[in-house]
Amino acid sequence: MIPSQARVVVVGGGIVGTSVAYHLTRLGWRDVALLEQGSVSGGTTWHAAGLVGQLRASSNLTRLIRYSADLYGRLEAETGQATGWKRCGSLSVARTAERMVQLERNAALARSYGIEAEVISVKRAGERYPLMRTDDLVGAVWIPGDGKANPADITQALAKGARAGGAAIHEGVKVTGVRLERGAVAGVETSQGPIATEILVNCAGMWARELGRMSGVAVPLHACEHMYIVTNPMDGVTPDLPVMRDADGHIYFKEEVAGLLMGGFDPWAKPWGMDGIPEGFTFGTLAEDWDKFEILMQNAIQRVPALASAQVRLLMNGPESFTPDNYFILGEAPEVRRYYVGAGFCSGGIAAAGGAGRALAEWIVEDRPSMDLWQADIRRFAPFHANPEFLRERVSEIVGVHYFVAFPNREIETGRGLRLSPLYGRLRNRRACFGNKMGWERANWFAPEGVTPETVYSFGRQNWFPYVAAEHRACREAVAVFDQTSFSKFRLEGPDAESVLQRLCANDVAVAPGRMVYTGMLNERGGFESDLTVTRLSAEAYLIVTGSAQTTRDAHWIRRHIDGARATLTDVTGAYAVLGVMGPRARDLLARLTQADLSNAAFPFATSREIWLGRALVRASRITYVGELGWELYVPAEFAADVYDALHAAGAEDLGLQDAGYYAIDSLRMEKGYRAWGRELTTDDTPLEAGLGFAVRFDKTVPFIGRDALLKQRGKPLAKRLVSFVLDDPGALPLGDEPVWSEGAIVGSTTSAAYGHTVGRAVALGYVRRGTGVDSGYLDAARFEVEIAGDRFAARGSLRAPYDPDGLRIKS
Ligand SMILES: Cc1cc2nc3c(=O)[nH]c(=O)nc-3n(C[C@H](O)[C@H](O)[C@H](O)COP(=O)(O)OP(=O)(O)OC[C@H]3O[C@@H](n4cnc5c(N)ncnc54)[C@H](O)[C@@H]3O)c2cc1C
Repeated sequence: MIPSQARVVVVGGGIVGTSVAYHLTRLGWRDVALLEQGSVSGGTTWHAAGLVGQLRASSNLTRLIRYSADLYGRLEAETGQATGWKRCGSLSVARTAERMVQLERNAALARSYGIEAEVISVKRAGERYPLMRTDDLVGAVWIPGDGKANPADITQALAKGARAGGAAIHEGVKVTGVRLERGAVAGVETSQGPIATEILVNCAGMWARELGRMSGVAVPLHACEHMYIVTNPMDGVTPDLPVMRDADGHIYFKEEVAGLLMGGFDPWAKPWGMDGIPEGFTFGTLAEDWDKFEILMQNAIQRVPALASAQVRLLMNGPESFTPDNYFILGEAPEVRRYYVGAGFCSGGIAAAGGAGRALAEWIVEDRPSMDLWQADIRRFAPFHANPEFLRERVSEIVGVHYFVAFPNREIETGRGLRLSPLYGRLRNRRACFGNKMGWERANWFAPEGVTPETVYSFGRQNWFPYVAAEHRACREAVAVFDQTSFSKFRLEGPDAESVLQRLCANDVAVAPGRMVYTGMLNERGGFESDLTVTRLSAEAYLIVTGSAQTTRDAHWIRRHIDGARATLTDVTGAYAVLGVMGPRARDLLARLTQADLSNAAFPFATSREIWLGRALVRASRITYVGELGWELYVPAEFAADVYDALHAAGAEDLGLQDAGYYAIDSLRMEKGYRAWGRELTTDDTPLEAGLGFAVRFDKTVPFIGRDALLKQRGKPLAKRLVSFVLDDPGALPLGDEPVWSEGAIVGSTTSAAYGHTVGRAVALGYVRRGTGVDSGYLDAARFEVEIAGDRFAARGSLRAPYDPDGLRIKS
């Protein structure tokens, strides 16, 4: 019998749902009802291969999986249910020099996250995996802490642990609807009657998108076929054989009952479930597809020749859900209060479930995440991401991304051309090479006449290097125009707009109309929820501008905190194009198109006003992200092309106006030490640690969220601090996420890096940690090294920006 009421209802009895229920009970919540339409572990979980590799793309996601490995190691003793967990280690092999660079980078990253990882020779790799052919390999990486497990058994153990903690698990109960009241969860309808609840957790695996749609919640995932074979016992296959990954062959291997389990991620996958998941699909498999498996099989025989004569006892084809960016989905849905999602595990759900379940349980209990989980946060998506047509196209590519060589700047090819700036056609005609962010096509760099605007991927200097150098110089020495239309833009209007923003922003936004304020929005821990500029338009209206990827997240954060106040937030992202006109000759250029007084006295830094420019009325805001004199022009979308043409007509000849793209922005902003949200500024970093104390007003009358946490930190030595690095060797090419060494120990890691074309060296930003405090005295004396793919490069670290002698402030 299902209850009529529960404090929280978890939908889905796969490894993720049971982990959430288990961890909720560990946090003291006993009134937990888990509903499963079939039987526990009957969705995707039961047929998973069971590999548990720890390394992920961020330190916090890696922490989650390390926790999974720890949990799986002790669950059997705790619950009495076997889990099949074995810490057998993993071996990743490289067939090419480029793959080896990636493995070396991964090993360095792993070490900076505290995971033991060793680059080993081909000979030693062969000793660890005697069945493997090695004469065609370049090298390998060995991670001893990785392991494998039996997914169905772990799920049963988590379910048993959850029950022991007080949770009730109901099998054969399907959730058919979700009842909402005033934008929040109020209950669920099920095949066995309603349950009143204020908290719903959608852990419905590949069914999660459909379940979300019932309540207007976008859960962007789509199922794809995923296949592996299992052989009969083979000579030389023992239970402690490591997991082996040969990404160049798109394949992985694991011991399974003295035989080999071999599966993989072929470059183009087959989406499944286009017309919905068939009713009653439980413990289901899909038809064998040997044609599709052929490429994996050939590669597998090349790697493990004994497979050619092994008896295959099973070809498993099971569906798994994938997301548009290959990261899973976690967190409170922005559309419905107290509606949580844990789904879209992209073939990593067994490895991730322990940590992801704990993180989601903490999120539910504390009503906020306990650490920065932006890469997995559901708010990184917008509603368009859940469009089935887009998803089908995207996931067919995304499955293969698992084993792509992760070249810097690699762009996804599918699902492109979705959101276009009004200038798109013009920029394409000027040979822009486009990248993609939040669905927007954005110019990364411009090819000169006769050069194809395509990035040639490599770990070395890529083909665009000299062209971006020219764009950079144009901005530092003359004037450049950047299409920054993808910025997220909001209007906040109403009698309480000021008080809402005063509470949300660390800086003082009670300024006169026409003033701009650079500020962070912080959480209670003092960490950055966002980093933005706020322009006061009038007594009751503000324009808020934030990063392109933050639209959903920032709108959610602001709306949640309006909390009944008389203020309305409107997303106006698509209504305005943004043209950044930047460089020492920006004033001369604009003056040719306007009567407005652009002098420093009449139009000082951090002010904004509407001016006639050419034939359009535009909002000109004197601000910069590249550290030069300049204006961001907010142009009604329909006038953007005319303004852009007028700028070129006025400035191309004698002022040296040049189009410039996002790679130039990166190089310019890094030299000036300007921070980026999501890289330097995350929910775990405070303005004091990030060197942005100047944008915090402790003395304003309305206390802002995070103030108490900052007050505790203020005046004490900072054990972690953001530092600008300049690398001594002009040939060094850091990319971000590299370990930073000092005196033989890892003391931090880089967050972003670029080549600084003005300083003539690679520049990076990164956090340095030191128990007794990081200050200029320490930095001046310290000798740093940045580790790039296993090699260490000497670097100078400073709190000051490499290019601006006196500045960590946004100014011109
Ligand atoms: C062939 C294959 C190999 C894999 N190998 C690995 C591996 O080696 N390592 C790894 O980490 N991952 C692997 N995975 C991925 C892993 O299996 C998944 O990521 C994981 O099982 C997802 O778990 P889940 O709980 O999110 O989904 P599921 O296990 O699918 O659970 C969701 C549950 O929700 C239930 N449900 C849905 N809708 C409703 C509703 N309306 N009402 C009630 N219940 C509902 C379903 O019945 C289902 O049981 C593999 C996947 C495949 C297909």
